[in-house]
Order: sequence, then structure tokens, then C-alpha cells
Amino acid sequence: TRRYVLAQRPATSTGPLEEGVLRYEEDVPVPSPQAGQVLVKVEWMSLDPATRSWMNGTPGSLPPSPLGETMRALGAGTVSASEHPDYAAGDRVCGLLGWQEDAVVHGATLRRVPEGVPLNASLNVLGIAGQTAWLGLHDIGRPREGDTVVVTAAAGSVGSIAVQLAVAAGARVIGVAGTPAKCAWVREIGADECVDYRQENVSAACSWLCPDGIDVVFDNVGGAMLDALLPHVAPNARVVLCGAISRYEGGHGPAPLHNWFHLLFKRVRMEGFIYLDHQARFDEIEADLLPRLRNGELRSREHVVEGLTAAPEALGMLFDGTNTGKLLVRIGHS
Ligand code: NDP
Repeated sequence: TRRYVLAQRPATSTGPLEEGVLRYEEDVPVPSPQAGQVLVKVEWMSLDPATRSWMNGTPGSLPPSPLGETMRALGAGTVSASEHPDYAAGDRVCGLLGWQEDAVVHGATLRRVPEGVPLNASLNVLGIAGQTAWLGLHDIGRPREGDTVVVTAAAGSVGSIAVQLAVAAGARVIGVAGTPAKCAWVREIGADECVDYRQENVSAACSWLCPDGIDVVFDNVGGAMLDALLPHVAPNARVVLCGAISRYEGGHGPAPLHNWFHLLFKRVRMEGFIYLDHQARFDEIEADLLPRLRNGELRSREHVVEGLTAAPEALGMLFDGTNTGKLLVRIGHS
């Protein structure tokens, strides 16, 4: 089987991965699962903004990916052999399967992909993107009918689900995204407006798009983007710190929030969360998302790159914005 091992931490925390960070290995013997373990043929792999932090060793959602081991990633595939009572060959599963074609993991770390649902949806609407958007929006953002919700990186995988969940909750939704085409998609999925931050001044746009203030900020970007939104928060607003993609690569120096004092005077609650802390609730959230996925109410886009060896270069797309939807690698088995 083939895999990528994290051989060394990147010397620079931004930009393309240099030679030697990942070691590509072919002809690795496929291990046999031991008691409690499952062997999974990986068919889809997820590339996430956190992947870069796991490589860099900077603080992130999980501890850094250990050196000398298969690089960490979420994935989905089919069980080829099982020593765990809950799984049998042929079952469709997802979990932390790593940058490899065949993964041996403990059965307790896996989730079953619901029948009739494509494997890739378990890494998108039913997986990290949907679970994250749901938790951030409903647990922390709590939009009420008629509230104004602003979502940053709104055309992305998490952002686009957050937009649709907020629309479904009766909110007026304003997206922020990086190209006219992305903004068109954000409007297509129900946002009232979408600000192209590369062409427009976000703070100025908020002044006229949100005259009564923003009730919920669902922020995926952090840094200067978050700072530009803070002067526009409404009294008792909620600021959901979902992500800070403008900051993950590091190397840009400190990013002070100049406008934090609006949080104080407007009595605002700002709260971060990590979706993996809430695994006990995944079934409950899936039960809400699954019918909406099946009836077409929740739409998503996927940006698929072909083959494990395409992964190292594709990771950069998340940071220059060239991905159009959930970034997935389709693992071609040789
Ligand atoms: P996306 O599909 O949204 O892709 C990332 C997008 O971010 C890019 O396409 C780009 O879109 C935008 N972006 C990148 N750099 C910048 C920048 N400097 N300024 C503004 N926008 C930028 O990725 P995900 O949906 O996977 O992740 C979205 C966010 O959600 C991330 O911050 C991620 O870390 C976070 N997240 C948080 C989780 C949690 O548990 N809290 C779990 C999963 C994800 P554009 O062209 O519009 O600039």
C-alpha cells in the first residue's frame, strides 16, 4: 500500500510544502488488524485548514501530527477486514484514516456512513463541514427569526452550510467570500447578499448592509476580517469563532483586534469551539442534517483532486482560495 509519512516540520509556516516534509512510501505491507482494530480501504481523504497546523506543530484543534508517522487526515472508505465486533468487511465508514490507501484503526474511532449516502458526504455535509456549521450556528450563534447573520469564508465547506442553516432558521444572511463566482454561489444557496472582500471594503459594506447591526458573526477567517466586522455588532450579538484561516499559516506577525471594545459596550458574547469535542452529539446532529441532505435542502460543492500524490500540492488551495467547495482527495488504488 502507499502512504505519506510526516518526516519533518515545514521550515516555513506558510506557502508550498518544501521537499522532505512528507515522505512518500510505496510497497508498504498492509498490516493485519489486531483485536479491536479494523482495516479500511480508504477511498476519500479530506484536506482541512487544520492539516497545515498539524504539520507545522502550531496550536490547533488536535496536537501536532507526530513525526515519523502517517500524516493525519479524515477519510472515508470500506472495511476490508475487521477484528471489532461492530464492523464487518464491506461496511462503509469514516474517521481519522490518514494520508494512505489502507488504514488500520481502532473500531471505536470510526463512524458508520448512513445507507444511501455517498462516502464523500461523510466528510462534507454529514461530517466535519456539517457538524461544525451546525454546532457553531445553533449552539453558539443561536440566530432568531429576523436576525442578521454574517458568515465569512461563506462559499467554503463549513461557511456554505452555516449560510443555509442560518437561512433555514429565518435569519437574514450576508456572506463574505473571495471572488464574484463564489459570491454568486453564496447568493444561490440563500444569502441575501455576499461581499467580495477582495474588491470591496468589508466594514463599509456592513455599514449599509447591516444598518441595525450584526446579531451573529460566524467567523472562519479571523485577523483583520474579524476586526472589520466587530464595529458592526448589534447589542447582545454572538460572535462564533469557528476558524481563523487567515492566521493558521502563521508568519504574519501578531494580529491585534483593534475593535474588541465593541464587544464590551454592546454586551457581546464571543466564543470558540472545536467540533471534535462534541462527538457525543454527532448522532443527534446527523439526524437533523441527513433528511435535509436527502431532500436536497442542504446543498454543497466539492473540489475533488485525483490521487493520493495530488494531496501535498492541493493543500495550498485552502489558503489561496482556489478551492471551490469541500476539498477532497479521491484515492486511486493501484
Ligand atoms: P473552506 O472550504 O472554507 O476553504 C477555505 C477558504 O477560506 C478558501 O477557499 C478561501 O475562500 C478562504 N480563505 C483562505 N485564506 C483566507 C484569508 N486570508 N482571508 C479570507 N479568506 C480566506 O475550508 P473549510 O470549510 O474546511 O474551513 C473553513 C473554516 O472552518 C476554517 O477556518 C477551518 O479551520 C474552520 N473549521 C473549524 C472547525 C472547528 O471545529 N472549529 C472544524 C472545521 C473547520 P475565499 O476565496 O472566499 O477567500
